[in-house]
Amino acid sequence: MKPRVGVSACLLGEPVRYDGQSKPHEWIRQVLADVADLVPLCPEVGAGLPVPRPPVRLVKLEDGIHALGVEDPGRDVTGVIEQWSRSARSLIDELQAVILKSKSPSCGLRSVPLHSPKGEELGRTSGLFAAFLQQEYPALLLLEETGLELAEARAAFLHALGID
Ligand code: SF4
Repeated sequence: MKPRVGVSACLLGEPVRYDGQSKPHEWIRQVLADVADLVPLCPEVGAGLPVPRPPVRLVKLEDGIHALGVEDPGRDVTGVIEQWSRSARSLIDELQAVILKSKSPSCGLRSVPLHSPKGEELGRTSGLFAAFLQQEYPALLLLEETGLELAEARAAFLHALGID
């Protein structure tokens, strides 16, 4: 049985980003795909948002972190992304690891700029889907594609999946 690895769908070459583009990651597509079953995950499209769509960013409000439109801060997509995350539990339960797209307000793992309502940058945090995974699946192996740049890191990841 091959390990099952969730991957942000844009890293697999799917044109699901807000701008209609993808961010294909060649090692994931050409090497990892041979030894693992890759499961594409796109929280934003899964939540019913269109492609293309206006970009969002993370904003710290009194009741927590929200994903709000960059041009239209009144557009709040937090609820639909969190709802999709919960609905994906049965899929996530089958995964050994998830590779997440860095800096995305949905997928980024500790790399996403967090803003104040006035637009000041407050630091870095995780995107809404990544934060859900961190909280609900503490034993699940999570990493960003930027963590797979070095050959040693790729080898360590394969080893963690039981592939040597
Ligand atoms: S939500 Fe995640 S998978 Fe979808 S386009 Fe953004 S980074 Fe890629």
